[in-house]
Amino acid sequence: MEKRDLIVKGKAKSMYTTDDAGYCIMHFRDDTSAFDGKRIEQLERKGRVNNIFNAFIMQKLEAAGIPTHFVKRIDDRDSLVRRMTMIPVECVVRNIAAGSICRRLGVKEGIDLDPPTFELFLKNDELGDPMINEYHIAAFKWAKLKDVETARELTFKVNDVLKKLFSDHGMLLVDYKLEFGVCDGKVLLGDEFTPDGCRIWDAETREKLDKDRFRQSLGNVVESYEVVGRRLGLSFD
Ligand code: UDP
Repeated sequence: MEKRDLIVKGKAKSMYTTDDAGYCIMHFRDDTSAFDGKRIEQLERKGRVNNIFNAFIMQKLEAAGIPTHFVKRIDDRDSLVRRMTMIPVECVVRNIAAGSICRRLGVKEGIDLDPPTFELFLKNDELGDPMINEYHIAAFKWAKLKDVETARELTFKVNDVLKKLFSDHGMLLVDYKLEFGVCDGKVLLGDEFTPDGCRIWDAETREKLDKDRFRQSLGNVVESYEVVGRRLGLSFD
């Protein structure tokens, strides 16, 4: 499939049209951003590592019966995906408290959340991705409520699959953010699943192996992403 025009340049990925209107090419760059885009740096190899990582996870999810936009990895930094109308909302599940929930609710990082929590955030950098609920989505007509309900069910299904996958390889899936879109009336998981959009800790030491290494200037960011991938059986050579 031929790569054509840039549709949108996000903070870490760019989307391109192809010669088929039903498909897009998702290009993973080395750009790494934090704090709603206020800090941006280039991390060598990250785009390639995330493209390989994302392809692996999306295939695992598809195999578990979760519909995704992912079609195939094309090369080092490009993947072919179905073109969708995105739901402008971020779905976050938390198994362990970390990040914004600690700041918002004054709870300690590391406490187990049983049952896990589910939160919705509006995708809007200028507003700092504010937390919303289904009533806001209905009142402002940002999406169909039944599609958001499906997105929530799929987000929890992803938790069942990935919590086990990481735990089988000595890691904890602390939290993650997913985005969904609609294609031919069907809700599909979109965007990406990489250590840029989730928190993963070593199960024994609780060492952070995700983008918090960048947010907190802990160093070895991409190296840690590779550690996670290698533990799952991936090769980045
Ligand atoms: N997250 C993300 N993009 C965002 C906001 C959050 O990928 O714009 C991910 C983040 O990496 C973490 C989870 O969603 O895995 C929950 O993030 P949180 O609300 O704790 O916000 P943060 O601490 O990242 O500001």
